[in-house]
Amino acid sequence: MAKVDMKIEGMYQEVLKRNPGETEFHQAVLEVLECLGPVVVKHPEYLERKIIERICEPERQIIFRVPWQDDKGIVQINRGFRVEFNSSLGPYKGGLRFHPSVYLGIIKFLGFEQIFKNSLTGLPIGGGKGGSDFDPKGKSDDEVMRFCQSFMTELYRHLGEHTDVPAGDIGVGGREIGYMFGQYKRITNRYEPGVLTGKGLTWGGSLVRTEATGYGATFFVNEMLKARNDSFEGKKCLVSGSGNVAIYTIEKIHQLGGTCIACSDSNGVIYDEKGLDLDLIKQIKEVERRRIEDYTKKHKHAKYIANGNIWDIPCQVAMPSATQNEINGKDAATLVKNGCIAVGEGANMPTTPEGVKIFLDAKIAYGPGKAANAGGVATSALEMQQNASRDSWSFEYTEKKLEDIMINIHRNCFETAEEYGAPGNYVLGANICGFIKVANAMVAHGLI
Ligand code: NDP
Repeated sequence: MAKVDMKIEGMYQEVLKRNPGETEFHQAVLEVLECLGPVVVKHPEYLERKIIERICEPERQIIFRVPWQDDKGIVQINRGFRVEFNSSLGPYKGGLRFHPSVYLGIIKFLGFEQIFKNSLTGLPIGGGKGGSDFDPKGKSDDEVMRFCQSFMTELYRHLGEHTDVPAGDIGVGGREIGYMFGQYKRITNRYEPGVLTGKGLTWGGSLVRTEATGYGATFFVNEMLKARNDSFEGKKCLVSGSGNVAIYTIEKIHQLGGTCIACSDSNGVIYDEKGLDLDLIKQIKEVERRRIEDYTKKHKHAKYIANGNIWDIPCQVAMPSATQNEINGKDAATLVKNGCIAVGEGANMPTTPEGVKIFLDAKIAYGPGKAANAGGVATSALEMQQNASRDSWSFEYTEKKLEDIMINIHRNCFETAEEYGAPGNYVLGANICGFIKVANAMVAHGLI
């Protein structure tokens, strides 16, 4: 092992020691550190200033109690988190996740990835992430409201348009952002739209924010296909999940000439070989908040596969848009064997390290989440711009800006991979390109 690789290995061992049991965080750190050997050879100042060690340690971690009462009057206790990871490029920016699986290790993996993703957007935003082990599924609107109010009653003191600006993630959409914004306004007596993004359109939200992550991921895959003289035209696609990211990924795939034949939720898979009826999916998931199984009530020809594995269905393009580690090594091998030529990650870290290796070895077009799904946070930054100038842009104008940002991210990752001798490796391209900008800002800011 080269001397520099040994140094980086030592840094990784230290991360394992300091953050025991946080396996998702370890996985996210390792993926970045594995790419940095050639970078520190070119930039020895990063080693001298301990940039890598510093970047792996969050600037601030907040953990708090969230008490609330359910509809029966019973007291419930959840745990809230906000990890303010790195503010070198701007205020902390990153979503809030409400899901029973949330613990510190999940929030730290997401916050760590967010640093590099936000850097890749080219916009002035630092990295952070937060959430709670609260499960909004099956809760009434009133229960969700009481939880969000209690959550914000603690979190508000850490936020501010120049400090920390959360948004949505799994389990946090327009409804939750609305309740949190209301409580922030009430406590602070300030109408401060710049403190949260993903807001409703009549009270400071941006057009295209709802669509942004899914549209952006599809634009990214479109660029990867173009780089191989190909396109979405006539391609059969799989999109896992059926939440915010999945729905607008399916919409953009259809607009670009592809056909999405399957999506899922945590209970099962819907397979419709004629192409998914997106209006029906929106009605079931966005309006009625029901399970994806209901799709077959209207479309009898479609199949519902309870506990099925979506990646077993042959496709040319796969866009995981549900959750972390949803594609393992076996799934990746199945996808490649079945003729998949492109994978674009709408979700964060949806592919295990074994799966990533299979995609890279097979030399298919593989767009990792921190590059492919950066359109969501980029459009959040566009929402912040509109709030700061008290302006609101048209759908077409905002979508064009999003597309340009995704084209730029693709180009930067592509060119960085070539520069570092690994053409076509978007993992290496994204990690190095995202890292260098943050590292240079940290060097400039001195030892803080
Ligand atoms: P939503 O809560 O809107 O939707 C999540 C979807 O994924 C649901 O259909 C959910 O099904 C499904 N899902 C969750 N866990 C599993 C699982 N273990 N197996 C199968 N399906 C599962 O979240 P988003 O669409 O906002 O987020 C999806 C992913 O995209 C996450 O990884 C998130 O971090 C990432 N992301 C989101 C951004 C955004 O702007 N929203 C920005 C960048 C990345 P069920 O209802 O059954 O739980």
